[in-house]
Amino acid sequence: MSDGPSVPTPPARAGRADSLAGVLRERLDRLAADGLRRVLRRIETPAGTVVEWEGRRLTNFSSNDYLGLAGHPAVREAAQAALRQWGGGSTASRLICGSLGIHHELEESLARLKRTEAALTFGSGFLAALGAITSLVGTGDVVAIDRLAHACIVDAARLSGARLRVFAHNDPGDLEQILRWAADRRRNDSSAEPGRVLVVTESLFSMDGDRAPLRELVELKDRYGAWLMVDEAHATGVLGPEGRGLAAESGVDGRIEVQMGTLGKALGAAGGFIAGGTVLIDWLVNRARSFVFTTAPVPAAAGAARAALGISTGEEGEQRRAALRARIAQLRQGLGQAGWSLPPVDGPILPVIIGDERAAVEVSTRLRDDGLLVPAVRYPTVARGSARLRVTVSAAHGADDVERLCSALARAVPVPPPGTLATTP
Ligand SMILES: *Cc1c(COP(=O)(O)O)cnc(C)c1O
Repeated sequence: MSDGPSVPTPPARAGRADSLAGVLRERLDRLAADGLRRVLRRIETPAGTVVEWEGRRLTNFSSNDYLGLAGHPAVREAAQAALRQWGGGSTASRLICGSLGIHHELEESLARLKRTEAALTFGSGFLAALGAITSLVGTGDVVAIDRLAHACIVDAARLSGARLRVFAHNDPGDLEQILRWAADRRRNDSSAEPGRVLVVTESLFSMDGDRAPLRELVELKDRYGAWLMVDEAHATGVLGPEGRGLAAESGVDGRIEVQMGTLGKALGAAGGFIAGGTVLIDWLVNRARSFVFTTAPVPAAAGAARAALGISTGEEGEQRRAALRARIAQLRQGLGQAGWSLPPVDGPILPVIIGDERAAVEVSTRLRDDGLLVPAVRYPTVARGSARLRVTVSAAHGADDVERLCSALARAVPVPPPGTLATTP
């Protein structure tokens, strides 16, 4: 301190136990005691099926790079080309001077993929959900979400100020009760602006690997005059014709008001998007705060995503999806032969439910000793007591990789515990 006015002495009570670090240390210790402490894993290798971590080379069964596009030479080259042409950053938000040609090209490609009038990109999928939900509903409205919906949907729903209702996982009957309640409420409401109802679900669920009954959900929301938003984070690039997602595969994409996706999973880049009608997109440009008040994504990310989209929708994408399906079938067959009862999921995400948090970490450690990276997923990512290994398969894996995974899993989980591989209770 220099000779300015004298600084008042802080009250004596701020002892070490009350300091920020003291309080947080105690909380972290409690997490550790519950088997819930998490730390970053520093990876020293580029995107691919092998990662180097703490000097060990592990086959990676945990990434969301389902088509193996993150390290694809054409995707890397497109990122570099975008960087050369447009620069390292976008210099401002989209509404100031950051709305570069490459962002618009990417959005046109996304709208073509989803067969919608328009699309809008965000810095991430999380930001896309946040911006969309909070700008579509608010006080006086109702937002109904699947119990297993992603954290970004939960947070957005809470932040929106709308009444939050949660329906049982993939249970249209339970959703209908909420819709009926909301309809009654609306009938008794004399205000000029009637409350709206927004239903939000994932399509291919991120931690359970199962699929939402989209046809039934669409029927329901139409019958009750609600709106539907579907988060296709894990299905875009993976399911449906041209990788258009589960909504397209189910033939209901034209009936969903808000289609959401991420560019960071099968598309191997970074960013999120909303696809829908021009009026919706126009509204989001005006009102989605996570779009308006943030710097436009870097050109390299947009370039990478656009190239990945080109590959994914073309012949090579079909080949990669076929390779992915073959690996998934091989994994299911291998575990079936080892006596495991598998949940009826046929996507690239296979949950191996262990239950106890510490036990899940132990199994994960055993797999690591066998040269495989399959992290334990615990609370708060999934419910307490439903800790699991989340196995993800990629088109870039070889048959030999999956073979090693099957035998390592059979060794690491000798007796599949009751309910193993069932979806979350
Ligand atoms: C990963 C994920 C998101 C968030 O997407 P990011 O682009 O990673 O921010 C949203 N929803 C679901 C279901 C996800 O799995």
